[in-house]
Amino acid sequence: MIPYGRQYIDEEDIKAVIDVLRSDWLTTGPNVVKFEKYFSKYTGALYSVAVASGTAALHCAMYAIDIRPGDEVVVPPITFVATANCVCYQGGTPVFADVDQDTALIDPEAVEKKITSRTKAIIGVDYAGQPCDWNRLRDIADKYGLILIADSSHALGAELNGKKVGTIADLSTFSFHPVKHITTGEGGMVTTDNVTWADRIKRFRNHGIDTDHHQRQKLASWYYEMQDLGYNYRICDIQCALGCSQLKKIDGFVSRRREIAKKYDGFFLKMKYAKPLGVHRDVKHAYHLYPIKVDFEALGADRESIFSTLREKGIGINVHYIPVHYHPFYLKNYNTFKGMCPVSELMYEQLISLPIYPKLKDSELNLIFEILESVLK
Ligand SMILES: *Cc1c(COP(=O)(O)O)cnc(C)c1O
Repeated sequence: MIPYGRQYIDEEDIKAVIDVLRSDWLTTGPNVVKFEKYFSKYTGALYSVAVASGTAALHCAMYAIDIRPGDEVVVPPITFVATANCVCYQGGTPVFADVDQDTALIDPEAVEKKITSRTKAIIGVDYAGQPCDWNRLRDIADKYGLILIADSSHALGAELNGKKVGTIADLSTFSFHPVKHITTGEGGMVTTDNVTWADRIKRFRNHGIDTDHHQRQKLASWYYEMQDLGYNYRICDIQCALGCSQLKKIDGFVSRRREIAKKYDGFFLKMKYAKPLGVHRDVKHAYHLYPIKVDFEALGADRESIFSTLREKGIGINVHYIPVHYHPFYLKNYNTFKGMCPVSELMYEQLISLPIYPKLKDSELNLIFEILESVLK
């Protein structure tokens, strides 16, 4: 089975992990700091704070900007549940704004319609690896005094008008799950240019305590203070050593993804019932996913049968995503309902994600084209 995404690990990565295992620090040591510095250098963000997962990164962002009960945060439905869940963790209310039918990115016009006196922030998801329309989102944020958060879990390496993702929103979050651009097994990062937020997040990931173990060792001190209620959202040195080693390869990873996407683009030019999503002219896409929109009605087949046929033939396609407001948790607790975001709901019926990852071979890609051609005709 060719999966929709998978990690790329080489001998250098393995050696980096083994070296940490032989060292003094397994967690909260020099590799965490190194990974953060390296990440800041790559993205151009002033501060990077590494945490246990992309979900923890989102929670940290919500904590940093002090989301609390009564606050509303506008989010898109076409995303992984964590984008909305992080608002709930803080007692806030996620408010769903529909996406653009061409790109599946949050629609700035829909966002503006959802703003109330309680709105505090907007989370845009750089879906599939394409940066949101951050210029228009920034205008809206300025007009209403809101904070912009980017869930850039899909978009490490992407750019908007020559600016790297990680420096565009007020806070940006990343995930290092194995299907993402680089991996640490589990892991995440928050980037920002705001030192107060960066410091708050560093405390929050360590129980709300103001110094970490490594710092106290250096100062030869046992004393610490817990300032706020935090969590154990730390990432360990073993993971960060892998992260550093992976980040060295990011340019190659992203360019191979772009190369594969270009081949898919060419293939779909001749397909009648399936087409890729739109890409804005001012972006450099990072292609975490390669989703296509299939007109199942015109094709005369339903998604279930196409899905199982492709899987039987060895293509591990997937669907990204079930609209978040469809989930029972949101239907029950946040009064969401089917019909509230019609564009997202229609797109959900049509979206299929095809395999894309650096290790995908041209021969496998040609096999995928052959199979798609026979199944989607
Ligand atoms: C992967 C992902 C997350 C969560 O990341 P984890 O590291 O799995 O916690 C959040 N948002 C989006 C859009 C993602 O794709």
